[in-house]
Amino acid sequence: MTSKLSPFGAGAAYSRGIAFIDGQYVEATDAAVYDNINPATGEVIAQIEVADEVMVDRAVQAARKAGRGQWRLMSDDQRAEIMRRVAAGIEARFDDFLAAEMRDTGKPVSLASHLDIPRGAANFRVFADVMKHANESTTMTTPDGGRAINYSIRAPLGVIAVVCPWNLPLLLMTWKVAPALACGNTVVVKPSEETPSTALLLGEVMRDAGVPDGVYNVVNGFGGASTGEFLTNHPDVDGVTFTGETGTGEAIMRAAARGVRPVSFELGGKNAGLIFADCNIEAAIETTARSVFANAGQVCLQTERLYVQRPIFDQFVAGLKAKAEALKVGDPWDKSTTLGPLISQEHRNKVLSYYEAARQQGAETVTGGGIPDMEEALAGGSWIQPTLWTGLADDAKCVTEEIFGPCAHIRPFDDEEEAVALANNSPYGLASMTWTNDVSRAHRVASQLEAGTNWVNAWFLRDLRAPFGGSKRSGIGREGGTHSLEFYTELRNVCIKL
Ligand code: NAD
Repeated sequence: MTSKLSPFGAGAAYSRGIAFIDGQYVEATDAAVYDNINPATGEVIAQIEVADEVMVDRAVQAARKAGRGQWRLMSDDQRAEIMRRVAAGIEARFDDFLAAEMRDTGKPVSLASHLDIPRGAANFRVFADVMKHANESTTMTTPDGGRAINYSIRAPLGVIAVVCPWNLPLLLMTWKVAPALACGNTVVVKPSEETPSTALLLGEVMRDAGVPDGVYNVVNGFGGASTGEFLTNHPDVDGVTFTGETGTGEAIMRAAARGVRPVSFELGGKNAGLIFADCNIEAAIETTARSVFANAGQVCLQTERLYVQRPIFDQFVAGLKAKAEALKVGDPWDKSTTLGPLISQEHRNKVLSYYEAARQQGAETVTGGGIPDMEEALAGGSWIQPTLWTGLADDAKCVTEEIFGPCAHIRPFDDEEEAVALANNSPYGLASMTWTNDVSRAHRVASQLEAGTNWVNAWFLRDLRAPFGGSKRSGIGREGGTHSLEFYTELRNVCIKL
């Protein structure tokens, strides 16, 4: 194994993705590699080294050693100051992060520059001071024969494995790394195999911001029987925070059961949007278009099931169809592009299989349903048409399973009771969206929906202090603001006899 300064150079593109361990980019001499592909063009942009068990162990041991050192002993203020420097470091290298994220995902600049990269920096600012809001109780007790004072302290959990998806790589990774570090933990990040670049680039920023070596480590590779599994199985990992598919969550939970390690899971969804006839229909159509097509539908909060009250059904379907057909598919660097490609050819094949299933199960395709014609430079990309259906049964594949593409099924309903029952008819419960101008209805419906986040007349409107997580099969635990303390720290009791 050899050490390298950086695989990135001064903002230049890089050709080999290697691990970041103990403050250094580390290259293995005989690692397996795979091609990292730009899904907008199909071009190979880098070769990525797969971290084997030895490399994963090296990262975990670096994190363990750093966790016993100055990072844990620092005051909350000192750590917070460094976290703010990390946020400033991301902003100072905004263009590098933007280019790296766009190459990995193909997402349009209009989205990545407004959402992914700014939120990556914001996560460090928001969580920098989180420990200062931990305010635990102190009690005097009078047990038999004496008095005692009880107080509680919050200790970091230790070494946290952070296993990430590809849809919002920097945003979702920092959403977990920031609170983990603010609480005094150390981390080993396993980015998605599709999107390793921004996690690696963050290593440079961490180092420049004064994060001690070994506090932030990155290992690349695949999931099952590869880097992800080696990491989550590692006995010196104290907890696993994971965002991804529900099935993967089940596998990681089995791994974490060994050693009884805690998990925090943000998993899949099949989110419902309820559109009542008394809503502002223009605003509902505008926002629903975002909730279906943003990031080519590859957002866990995406609304793939739309239920519209019958009097406005036709108007709503026509309005959403017009929005879908007005999306601009094309060069991600063109500021007017609004729809990027899917993450990979493999994922496109999966989404196309749902398009086919919808046809076979009797859907009326309102718009889309196939692959768009692309200019020559983009012909190798994994592009797909935005698609809307009506007419499917409630148990159809496209109505029950998470597709994770720019598509939705629209179905009419008659009354509130029916709407709530339809929305709750899913094993998932990540988010919901309700459109109504009736305040009582808004509260009534929101209180009955079985989902972790319930928006009314809005979608993806996030205050990072609010609790975030999934109900049912969409997750375990809540993160956000001080709620993140529940996972990233352990509450301990000290009892002193007076
Ligand atoms: P995925 O579950 O396939 O992969 C996520 C990560 O887990 C990757 O890094 C992968 O390599 C790793 N992994 C896979 N198998 C593993 C194993 N056995 N052990 C350890 N690690 C393993 O998910 P994805 O396709 O990258 O992302 C899309 C999914 O993520 C969708 O289901 C989406 O709803 C979900 N998601 C949820 C949220 C949320 O906040 N609830 C946010 C974003 C995405």
